[in-house]
Amino acid sequence: MSARYSDIEPYTPGEQPQNRKYIKLNTNESPFPPAPSVIEAIKGESGSLNLYPDPECKELCKTIADYAGVSPENVFVGNGSDEVLAFSFLAFCDKDKGACYPDISYGFYSVYADLCCIDGKAVPLTNDYRVEPSDYFNAGRTIYIANPNAPTGMSLTLDEIRNILDNNRENVVVIDEAYVDFGGTTAVPLVSEYDNLLVVRTFSKSRNLAGARLGFGIAGKEIIQDLNTMKFSFNPYNADRLSLVAGKAAIEDEAYFRQCVDTVIKNREYTAESLKKAGFFVLPSDANFIFAKKEGVSGESLYKTLREAGILVRHFNKPRIDDFIRITIGTKEQMDALIEVLERI
Ligand code: PMP
Repeated sequence: MSARYSDIEPYTPGEQPQNRKYIKLNTNESPFPPAPSVIEAIKGESGSLNLYPDPECKELCKTIADYAGVSPENVFVGNGSDEVLAFSFLAFCDKDKGACYPDISYGFYSVYADLCCIDGKAVPLTNDYRVEPSDYFNAGRTIYIANPNAPTGMSLTLDEIRNILDNNRENVVVIDEAYVDFGGTTAVPLVSEYDNLLVVRTFSKSRNLAGARLGFGIAGKEIIQDLNTMKFSFNPYNADRLSLVAGKAAIEDEAYFRQCVDTVIKNREYTAESLKKAGFFVLPSDANFIFAKKEGVSGESLYKTLREAGILVRHFNKPRIDDFIRITIGTKEQMDALIEVLERI
């Protein structure tokens, strides 16, 4: 290992047990399979796997562009939104232009900062776990904000994001919308107004395709060109043939998408209400997970009790949030199983 990485602390993904013994509510995946049309598209494409995929991801970019109301030159496709984020760190952060992000947010931001050997500044959330927009004014850094934030589930309004953009004309502002379809407001309409905005989205949550590793960025032409420069300097065939057709079919099946998202939202409200009745404190969530705690019980013990009952959730051993567990919203049956265990605590 080269000396510059001797201290690097890699990202720790949530557990991925391969034996399917658990009710898996720990990595914010969709509990629903991809749409039947997506599976058909994958089957149809598999005979072409002897050929490299389109390095420009033209068809998928066009589908996303039409869906989002932008032009294909405003779209970048990545191997998961993680890769879009990684390329943005490479492209827009430097020795004299570090990054900043909330101290309680997606854990990968600080890992990418370390990987790119740039300074990453963690900006504390408020006492009530909010992102305070003015804390990011004139940051002198590339800004990363997950909206809705994870693991809190709480959102900024479009006006608040606009405020951050207005006060950072010299800095790229990355809005990570991994969870936006579950109740947040997208910043995509601001892309035509702000050439410093990059919106990052994923197929992993609301599009039921975490296993396909597909994400995308929407931004002004210059930002997209810069991301492409990074990609073509690293891995030109970053999205494989099966994922490209899967992504296209997933966007085209709007009815299935809506049905899955609406079910998750309904189950989230049901779960939050049930846990509140059982004496839990639950943060308001616009995402496909909730962040909850119970007075007098540690987050670790909640996590362990659930694990023993065959239910996996996520616990973060981190100051200010170590009392909480993050619960991915699953099917009604999965949530009933979880509620039943938590009501006994
Ligand atoms: N951003 C946030 C806020 C996330 O929680 C995740 C999921 N772990 C990602 C990005 C990355 O998702 P993916 O690479 O699967 O698109």
